[in-house]
Amino acid sequence: MGLLKRHHRRSLLQAPFPKEWEAILSRDVPYLQRFNDVDAQRLRDTIQIIVDEKFWEGCGGLQIDDQIRVVIAAQAAIMLLRLESTDYLHHVRTFLIYPGPYQQTQERVGSDGLVHSGTANLGEAWYNGPVVLSWPDALAASKSPGQGRNVVMHELAHSIDMLTGSVNGTPLLRNKSDYSAWQEVMGRTFQELREKTALGQPDVLRPYALTNAAEFFAVSTECFFDAPATLRSGHPEAYAQFTRFWGWDPANPASLHPE
Ligand SMILES: [Zn+2]
Repeated sequence: MGLLKRHHRRSLLQAPFPKEWEAILSRDVPYLQRFNDVDAQRLRDTIQIIVDEKFWEGCGGLQIDDQIRVVIAAQAAIMLLRLESTDYLHHVRTFLIYPGPYQQTQERVGSDGLVHSGTANLGEAWYNGPVVLSWPDALAASKSPGQGRNVVMHELAHSIDMLTGSVNGTPLLRNKSDYSAWQEVMGRTFQELREKTALGQPDVLRPYALTNAAEFFAVSTECFFDAPATLRSGHPEAYAQFTRFWGWDPANPASLHPE
């Protein structure tokens, strides 16, 4: 990170968190109520940086406002709470926001794992490109956590997966020694899900996770943050791998970092 950027961030964070943004958080991002003071401040710092550094573009006639920026940045901040290595998702420069599910018009990136097929999309993440989101779906996910679904987190999981240079469901893990356990556990969980789905049995992870390893990671990530206790009871081993990678336990956020 350059000196200028560092200086800019420091002066940005010296300004108080805007009161209007605080109102948006308490109204639209109930998830944030569960953190201790130190992490709550850290999340607000991340929100300020992401709102400031990303380019926010409204599509299909949508006017971008603070509510849109703050709600989406808050989902990112939750994911990045203990994931400093991404430098606030430095490779994601632009958020393209639509007023609803939108038609997919452009060609896909290729065979690197992004398979949001179908005609109406709620979101997508492009390799070294923008994250595209449907605003009503992003807002609905933020306002009612606990369903195991969150389109913003799903797309940002793809973006984080992309940091390795290939979108394969294995992000940049903290240690070289973490990879073998990750691959073994995720592979096994994928197989279990495939077998259950084939038998028509329900699972906390929706069948879309079986599209490929990248979608498995994105769908599991949504569930990890949005319905952590459910994922933990359904797939404890995968849950443990996720707490290691993301650096905290969303099923029990305050206890890990008491002040
Ligand atoms: Zn996806």
